[in-house]
Amino acid sequence: MSDQRERLCDLLRRFYDNGWISGTGGGICALEAPGRLLLAPTSVHKELVRPEDFFVVDVESGRVLEAPPNERLRPSECGDIFRSVIKLRRAGSVVHSHALSAVLACDLTRDDALAISSLEMLKGLPGVTNTDTHLVPVVPNTPREPELVGSVDRLLSDERFGASYAIGVRDHGAYIWGADVWEAKKHAEVYHFLFEAVVARGGSS
Ligand SMILES: [Zn+2]
Repeated sequence: MSDQRERLCDLLRRFYDNGWISGTGGGICALEAPGRLLLAPTSVHKELVRPEDFFVVDVESGRVLEAPPNERLRPSECGDIFRSVIKLRRAGSVVHSHALSAVLACDLTRDDALAISSLEMLKGLPGVTNTDTHLVPVVPNTPREPELVGSVDRLLSDERFGASYAIGVRDHGAYIWGADVWEAKKHAEVYHFLFEAVVARGGSS
């Protein structure tokens, strides 16, 4: 099994411990090779996912190239959104969080942008400083995860959000990404801190 699969399992356990992917929700993906995406299964206890449980999906078409030996497993419903983020933002890894802080942070804005400012942690994002007002796009939730793709694509192409490495989903959570697994991990930690901070401040940051 590849190191990349082991790394994703390790991150799933850490994120579960953080309360970001509890109740079998949330997910993770990463490129195994150009055009080949490792995708965690859906509706399973994410902290128990093993290296052999990942699907390999074609980034362009979404077609499953390799399925895990366990035939009961199904690929994550996040797959279409993950592929959009990878294609539109040149990401190498995407984390889908169901953290309460992400849900409550999205509640702080009525429109499609969450503004975050006056926090040192903003420097954890490429090209962003603590004097910037950082805008995170927020999309409304849908009954099924793949139905989010249209609104996700529209906001990822919006130049207001060019510096953002996350997209919030109202009443649901967030997608957070980076150029590779390590950057996605860093950005997941940065954004969860930022979400917790703006919620604790009551949106007055
Ligand atoms: Zn979800």
